[in-house]
Amino acid sequence: MNASDGRLTSAKRFLIALLVVALVMAATGGVLLLNGARQVRVTIVAGLQLPGAPVIDKTVAESYNTIVSTANLLAEAYPDLVTVGSAGQSAAGRDLVMLKVGTGDKKALVVGAVHAREHLTTKFLLCLVNDYCIAYQTGAAVGTFDVKTLLEAYTLYVLPCANPDGLEIVFSRETPDEGVTVSALDEYKANKAGIDINRNFPLNWEGLQNGVTAPADYWYKGAAPADAVETQALMDLCDANDFAFLLSVHVKGDVIFWGNDYDPSGSAASRDFAKALCKSSGFAMTDPLTDPNDYAGGFEDWFRFTYGRPGVCVELVDTGVAIQPCGNANYADFDGTVQYSESYTVVAAAMNYMESVKKADEPTTVSRK
Ligand SMILES: [Zn+2]
Repeated sequence: MNASDGRLTSAKRFLIALLVVALVMAATGGVLLLNGARQVRVTIVAGLQLPGAPVIDKTVAESYNTIVSTANLLAEAYPDLVTVGSAGQSAAGRDLVMLKVGTGDKKALVVGAVHAREHLTTKFLLCLVNDYCIAYQTGAAVGTFDVKTLLEAYTLYVLPCANPDGLEIVFSRETPDEGVTVSALDEYKANKAGIDINRNFPLNWEGLQNGVTAPADYWYKGAAPADAVETQALMDLCDANDFAFLLSVHVKGDVIFWGNDYDPSGSAASRDFAKALCKSSGFAMTDPLTDPNDYAGGFEDWFRFTYGRPGVCVELVDTGVAIQPCGNANYADFDGTVQYSESYTVVAAAMNYMESVKKADEPTTVSRK
């Protein structure tokens, strides 16, 4: 046996060891046993694994308490990449839990569960943060996107749930304020005071005349613009930060809303942004909304109009899927329900689009011969 044969044997041994590790992981359902005693959980993203990454239970909905604990878990797992804070308090004094993800100077805002019954979006964003961090640390791609480079350019401000009181009303049977009309708990979108936060922003608020004139489970715009404390907290957050874009994640429709005819110029800035997100993440493009009852008071509509920057509503879940918010039925196949392998690329697509636009705007150097 010569020297090169010896190296070949070592390489083969290494490959066999890798194969054994893979077989052990397959046999233990992704839980790798090391030293016969210590269990190291392994999470998989884009075909890669990262020992020690948090495992988020996708089979049950998040409550306010688990949002807090999962957020803390993510910050502990990725101390150089994730911090936990609060964007303000709900009417009942719950934190609007906010994860800052990334190391970049530019900021962007991603918000879930403005509507209480749409708590699939909370799980979606917590999983997304985890998987982006794994991608960052392993160098794996999210879709076709190099998330490490993007998270070195951006810091994402991620609110998994902007309406924690509403979430607890839907899922834990807490009672809303006295006088709030509730037709069915699984229809509940509003905050504790019966104000629909996504009808409460000061964007053509007066033009919203949908017939709901008192606190209710959905569609009540409030007694005055931004009179919901959660609306005010989101506005203060946007005013205090120079967000490059906003994604507000809702359920359902498998589409992206990006414009309305009240604000043609602000909407136009979001059209190509939305188009890029649809192309890479599988969502369908909508036409600009023309009925004020469909857009007035909306968060992303207010954001676009106020800052002239891209702001869109991402609607997860195909229209054919029945949503049952008052139990865990929609979590039996969470990934399938939200089409996770495609839809979770949407935030990376947003950062990537903004970076590509920036590059296109930079003057090109032409060398003379
Ligand atoms: Zn919604």
